[in-house]
Amino acid sequence: MSRAAGKVAIVTGAGKGIGKAIALSLAKEKMKVVVTARTASDLEKVADEVKQLGGEALAIPADISREEDVKKVVSKTIDSFGSIDVLINNAGIGVFAPVEELKIEDFDRMFAVNMRGVFLCTQAALPYMKKQASGAIINISSLAGKNFFKGGSGYAATKWALNGFTKCLMLEAREYNIRVSVICPGSVATEFSPHSGKDETKILQSQDVADAVLTVLRLPDNALMSEVDLRPTNPK
Ligand code: NAP
Repeated sequence: MSRAAGKVAIVTGAGKGIGKAIALSLAKEKMKVVVTARTASDLEKVADEVKQLGGEALAIPADISREEDVKKVVSKTIDSFGSIDVLINNAGIGVFAPVEELKIEDFDRMFAVNMRGVFLCTQAALPYMKKQASGAIINISSLAGKNFFKGGSGYAATKWALNGFTKCLMLEAREYNIRVSVICPGSVATEFSPHSGKDETKILQSQDVADAVLTVLRLPDNALMSEVDLRPTNPK
């Protein structure tokens, strides 16, 4: 049985795409998974798949940009499972347009989910990890958080911010044996955005990101993989 067996993980944005693949992969490691996103019907399907695998899942609909929703996710997790060992901050949105055309509400919404949401979830979960002097927080960022491209100003800014946030948090949290990592994937074949002209079979798949999460978590407790760049081997 894996070292992760019996541990409790919260996965945000777990209704579909990368978050769903991560939740199912953690369930296969015999972790108890709390799946959260706004669409309850998506979460119920993922929770059912976890149960079919013989695992335990709790579906909690929530908008992670709202403080009261995040507090509810954390308190229900503690009430049901008693601890939070792993937090996967995966939920994110992208709206792509040149600066002059990017709507102010879309700019604000991206920061509210991709950055404020990560901050709220982290702040709510951290005290429980500190109390037990162990834990892992993995933030799903993007190679857009290291690069620049036309039409990506708002989205890339949220992911550059997330990378900076994660590194500061990593230094604060490791004093408590809490491992904080950021995974930066290139384009992944999900419903997230059109992969203009790219062959969907050659770009990254959600399972590739889930496997990167497992790789980070499988390291011995004394070793911390703080950053992962995940690229397709040969996208052409
Ligand atoms: P996706 O298929 O669109 O799934 C996003 C998930 O996040 C959904 O379950 C969605 O559910 C949830 N979500 C959105 N807004 C939310 C909110 N306010 N509160 C709670 N949950 C929310 O996207 P994905 O491709 O799996 O992307 C996951 C993460 O990977 C994102 O952070 C994204 O930036 C990053 N990423 C994606 C790619 C890519 O090419 N796909 C590449 C690099 C990085 P609801 O709408 O029901 O809330």
